[in-house]
Amino acid sequence: MKTPSTRAEWEALSASLRPDTGLFIEGRFVPALGGETFDCTSPRDGQVIAVMAQGQAADVDRAVASCMSAWQDGRWARLAPRARMAVLQQWADLIEAQSNELAVLESLDMGKPVSDVLNNDLPEVLKTIRYFAECIDKVEGAVTATDATALHLITHEPLGVVGAITPWNYPMLMAVWKLAPILAAGNCAVLKPAEQAPLTCLQLARLFVEAGGPPGVFNVVNGLGAEAGKALALHPDVQKITFTGSTAVGKLLMVYAGQSNMKRVALETGGKSPQIFMPDLYDLDTAIDRAIGGIYDNAGQVCNAGSRLLVHRSLHDRFVERFAARTEALYRMSDPLDPATTMGPLVSQTQKQNVLKRVALAQQQGARIALGGGAGAAPSEDGAYVAPTLFVDVRQDMSIVQEETFGPVASVQAFDSEAEAIALANGSIYGLAASVWTADLKTAHRMVAALQAGVVWVNCFGDGDMTQPFGGYKQSGNSRDKHKDSLLAYMQTKSAWFQLA
Ligand code: NAD
Repeated sequence: MKTPSTRAEWEALSASLRPDTGLFIEGRFVPALGGETFDCTSPRDGQVIAVMAQGQAADVDRAVASCMSAWQDGRWARLAPRARMAVLQQWADLIEAQSNELAVLESLDMGKPVSDVLNNDLPEVLKTIRYFAECIDKVEGAVTATDATALHLITHEPLGVVGAITPWNYPMLMAVWKLAPILAAGNCAVLKPAEQAPLTCLQLARLFVEAGGPPGVFNVVNGLGAEAGKALALHPDVQKITFTGSTAVGKLLMVYAGQSNMKRVALETGGKSPQIFMPDLYDLDTAIDRAIGGIYDNAGQVCNAGSRLLVHRSLHDRFVERFAARTEALYRMSDPLDPATTMGPLVSQTQKQNVLKRVALAQQQGARIALGGGAGAAPSEDGAYVAPTLFVDVRQDMSIVQEETFGPVASVQAFDSEAEAIALANGSIYGLAASVWTADLKTAHRMVAALQAGVVWVNCFGDGDMTQPFGGYKQSGNSRDKHKDSLLAYMQTKSAWFQLA
């Protein structure tokens, strides 16, 4: 498998692909029962790249019924742990072998630079599946201390059918953060991928079956959130919904769970992460380069994007000047199929308009643009491009500080003391992530303890591996992805008390 090295070669590969567009149920692609479809448009140029089957409640019923028979006959849950492990390892190997095709599909569908998919998303997808495959036979129960007349066993069992609803910013990776532990734990799953970028998720399901995964264990229903997503969340045979997406939809899912079977609801939702630059940091230039990646990578469409730059007043002016200059040097906004591109378009024209509206609102509220602010030198007028944007003269009560933008937009606020930095950082309904830049160990520990965030980075941003639980405090969610504990979150505990006397 030779990886294309020029835009022309990626274009040629993309022209040769015929993406699957059906729902994936019981190991094969099928149309929606009612024949409904929706267009899948590339944000690169606004062209329709696929016409997708649009699942409705009846299709969700069919997908869940297929999972239920797989669950009830035990074709997956009762497989020996190492046999399940072998399937997941083979699944990862097949995904790796199809890297080029998956990278180009993801790039066309979502707008992400093809090099990013190859160098970031796909390696993380593989790591996730292999990590949870390795965890399968490491799950252990317990024998508790009882008197001699009893034996007490605590065991972990899979839940049954789990529904996963995922967003478009990392379509494959966000799906696999859910699917790998769901499947490793022995459950069956119905995935409802984001309607903006469903193409690669269908391939993940196809490759699972190709790797030896029994048909019916992993089904995919494309469709709209308010139709297929809602039907999945209301379904009485679904034991848990696991979700990554907006806080507003996360709240709805809790309502749907209450209206149906009180299913468990695991939420990874929005964020507005602060990056704090203390006056004693080691090296401002290094910190700025990392901070830039922390907000502008993936064109800012990252839940933990470090969009709030809290800078000690003594560093402020130098920070803003260098941040703007380095951003211009580091990002090349261009066609995502060009391997040299480091920033592609946003996922859709709708998202571009959302972001530009927020930029305009920030200006109306008195914030001043220090960089970007519009489409910039976009390579195509039909593409959903927004240039990296930086706001200064920003107040804590402004929308640009309080509301998620989900685009390449950051704001700078100056602070005078550690206490003020913490108050600004925590002054948000969100609490997904935060970073602190300081050379003082005591300051670092104090601030880590004071920050209301599920993930805190010290002298870095976005670093981590599979051992890092990822998820938020406050309205950023109520669960964690990654880490072996998330396997247990797709299992339930059984206590068996044996009377021996
Ligand atoms: P979204 O909430 O609009 O959509 C996410 C998913 O929910 C999609 O599949 C959508 O179809 C579905 N959905 C929408 N309405 C629904 C409904 N009524 N019932 C059931 N499902 C429904 O979010 P988005 O715009 O796709 O993604 C961006 C959001 O995701 C941002 O808020 C971002 O912060 C968040 N996000 C969070 C994390 C995290 O780990 N915390 C990671 C990535 C993205």
